[in-house]
Amino acid sequence: MKKIAVFTSGGDAPGMNACLRAVVRTGIARGVEMYGVYRGYEGMIEGDIEPMQARDVSNIIQKGGTVLKSARSEAFRTVEGRAEAFHQLEKRGIEGLVVIGGDGSFRGAQVFHEEYGIRVMGCPGTIDNDLFGTDHTIGFDTAVNTVVDAVDKIRDTATSHGRMFIIEVMGRDAGFIALHSGIVTGAEAILIPETVTYIDELIELLKSGWNRKKSSAIVIVAEGDDAGGAFDVAEKVNERFDKYDTRVVVLGHIQRGGSPSAHDRLIGSRMGHSAIMELLAGRNCEMVGVVHNQIRFTPFSKATKFHTSIDHQLLDLAAVLSS
Ligand code: ADP
Repeated sequence: MKKIAVFTSGGDAPGMNACLRAVVRTGIARGVEMYGVYRGYEGMIEGDIEPMQARDVSNIIQKGGTVLKSARSEAFRTVEGRAEAFHQLEKRGIEGLVVIGGDGSFRGAQVFHEEYGIRVMGCPGTIDNDLFGTDHTIGFDTAVNTVVDAVDKIRDTATSHGRMFIIEVMGRDAGFIALHSGIVTGAEAILIPETVTYIDELIELLKSGWNRKKSSAIVIVAEGDDAGGAFDVAEKVNERFDKYDTRVVVLGHIQRGGSPSAHDRLIGSRMGHSAIMELLAGRNCEMVGVVHNQIRFTPFSKATKFHTSIDHQLLDLAAVLSS
């Protein structure tokens, strides 16, 4: 394989640049001509594809977002769109792809391979940690640290004023960010999509804390929780328990940005390196993961179909430690 292209796709995540750097430099070290596709599948269709040298990825390992930019592409979901994307690759002689993205990006890559036979490897870049086949996705650790930083600051004011803060974090289908950040900030309650939320139980828990002279309360809510977002939860709680002066904070997109943590830079670098090495060795349509600190491979079909389950021991831990 003489020419390989790399692109970032779907939601951006801190550490994508570290992964991109590893892909480009490993490819060049192995004598491959490397290309970067800008704006994911959309840029592929439009031919926004440039050769990449080692110096083109200098000074990006510490940067959040993605220097290749990312996009969602409705056109790539169509037969015509994918035909044009393949034409753009073919005319440059590109024979292999590395996609850094989430489950949607991998589904697209699988379809693309089935139609045109182009070989592709994937690196999991998403803050949600919702891909099967890796302990952590690139960006998750940074997102959790961003939430922790914010919640620590909110706790200062919550304690000073005796307030309750209901804080919404990202996670439409997955509660990993909520659970991990909730444990390490000592949140009184953590509401996640993977478990049923009973408002009665939440109120009892908060009342009990109030009676035990807890001077503040923090409730972390994943945006996809079955009880609704933070505003819905606040309304339902306040109807029946109004001892604390309550405030709602939606952390939003700050969770996607920022300089990647050491952990995200490290797994991004390892995964990017491995994606190229394995593509050259003949592997195809698999996601690179890190499981128990070892590189592991999972077919796209499995990585996108299954969900890494929440560790219920962590939920129990959160309940005991916040008492
Ligand atoms: P993520 O990769 O973060 O999950 P998306 O779900 O938005 O993000 O997917 C990124 C892009 O992948 C989509 O905009 C679309 O172009 C492409 N894609 C997703 N699913 C498919 C599919 N079934 N067939 C073709 N392309 C797809």
